[in-house]
Formats: sequence, C-alpha cells, structure tokens
Amino acid sequence: MRIGIDAGGTLVKIAYILNDKLELLKLPSKELLQAVNWVKETLDTPEICVTGGKAEQLAKLLPFEMKRIVEFEATCKGVQYLMSHSKQEEGPFVLVNVGTGTSIHYVNGEEHVRIGGTGVGGGTMIGLSRLLTGIENYQEFILSEVGGQRDELDLKVKHIYEGSEPPIPGELTASNFGNLNSVPANVPISDYLSSVIGLVGETVATASVLAAAQRGISRIVYIGSSFSGNQSLKKVVAEYTVLREGQPIILDNGEYSGAIGALLSL
Ligand code: ATP
Ligand code: MG
Repeated sequence: MRIGIDAGGTLVKIAYILNDKLELLKLPSKELLQAVNWVKETLDTPEICVTGGKAEQLAKLLPFEMKRIVEFEATCKGVQYLMSHSKQEEGPFVLVNVGTGTSIHYVNGEEHVRIGGTGVGGGTMIGLSRLLTGIENYQEFILSEVGGQRDELDLKVKHIYEGSEPPIPGELTASNFGNLNSVPANVPISDYLSSVIGLVGETVATASVLAAAQRGISRIVYIGSSFSGNQSLKKVVAEYTVLREGQPIILDNGEYSGAIGALLSL
C-alpha cells in the first residue's frame, strides 16, 4: 500500500488509498511513536513518501525505505489536486499555509515561489490562548471559544474615530487587544479566545493580501490544520481578506495537501 506522510511541527498528516477511496488521518507530532505504530500496524509492505519538518525524525523510527519530497513541492501538488477536485478555477493564486507558523507562496501552474511568512500562526493561536486561559486541549479551545465577543478587548478604527468619518473602513481593527477600557476580571474566557483568533486571522489575512497585491492578483487559497473545526478563524480570515479586497478560498481538507502531494509523488 502507498502512503504519503507530512510530519509537521504540531501534527502528522497521513494520506493513503483504501478500496479506491482517499483516506486521511492526523496524529500529534509530539507523540511520533503513535504515528510510527499506526504505520507498522496498518500496513504490511508500505511504499512511503514523507515530507515536513519532522520527516527525518519520523524516518529514523520507521523500519522501511522511504522516499522524501520537499515540503512545498508536496504541498503544491496536493493543493492542485484538491483544487481540481473542488472545481476551482485555474490561474495564479497566493497559497497560505496556516500551520504551526504561516508560510506564504505564489503559485501559477507548475511555477511556485515562496514570498514570505509570519511566525503568527496556529501555534500562536494555541500558545497565546493557553497563556491567557490555561486551556491546552484543542477541542476544548474550539468549544470554549463559542459565543466569544471581541468588543471588550479589541479596538476598531470606528471606535477611535467616534463621531467622525474615518479615512479607512471603520470595521478594520485599529488595535488587537488594544481596548484598555476592559476590566480583565469581567472578560469571559470565550472573549479572550475570540480575540486571539482575531489577532491571528487578521495578521495572516493582512500579510496574505499584501503578498497577493505585490503579485497583482487577488485570489488567496488558505490551508492548514489551524482551520480544522475552527469556524471563527475561517470567518475572520475570509471576511478580513474580502475587506482588504482579496478573494479568499479556504480549501476543504487543505491541511492534508502535503500528505496528499507526497502520496501522489510515489
Ligand atoms: P508546520 O507546517 O508549521 O510545521 P504543522 O504542519 O504541524 O506545522 P498544521 O497541522 O497545518 O501544522 O496546523 C497546526 C495547527 O492546527 C496547530 O497550531 C493548531 O492551531 C491547529 N490544530 C488543529 N487540530 C489540532 C489538534 N488536534 N491538536 C493541536 N493543534 C491542532
Ligand atoms: Mg505543515
């Protein structure tokens, strides 16, 4: 059996074909042995292709020969596969991988080049949330954020320009966590989590829109496990991208792009 593995900073993503169906699976990177055992137990004589920052650590633990592919090559291949299967238009786009950190690339057919990135990503979202609220578990983070409001903690442009017409859209955030009138004891946990998601989502969207403008395009494809089950991040990123005149696409199963690309290159 063939499998593609993307061993990232936070999660190991696995893609394989079973009974003609593409199967996808995620396991925590900090327990690499769990992924190793899964591969050993599930597959007899696997043909494996690995990618990602923890690919070599994983390869050392697996008693099989395996092919390697550069992370971004794999990601691009996987993204092209997912885009064609979800009937997205052809043509150039900026690809933004919101993983542990965020990586921004320009893709046009076979051509692809890294534009840049930001350390503000999914790791920031989880790390800052943990520091502010003590929540460590991802599912608990997602559930605890439901119903969170940002008005207590963030400051919008329209709040500063109160009573007069702002020169830029009033709905833009003037300062994330910049509303110093809030009384910390009165702020619910869900608000902290929503504002953290706002900070990460708006930073990512802003960097992405600027990168797209630099290339003279507006289409931005977002991938990465940071969007998994995270409706609030999807909403912030999509809305902020539109507000900044970009065209967002948050790709379903986009976090598996690297693993799918690795699988396809076998
Ligand atoms: P990188 O590509 O930067 O090396 P990665 O490939 O591991 O990292 P992703 O899997 O795309 O990154 O995304 C990791 C982020 O996804 C985490 O930082 C967190 O915000 C979010 N996430 C989603 N599901 C989980 C989970 N079950 N456990 C922990 N984080 C999760
Ligand atoms: Mg990754």
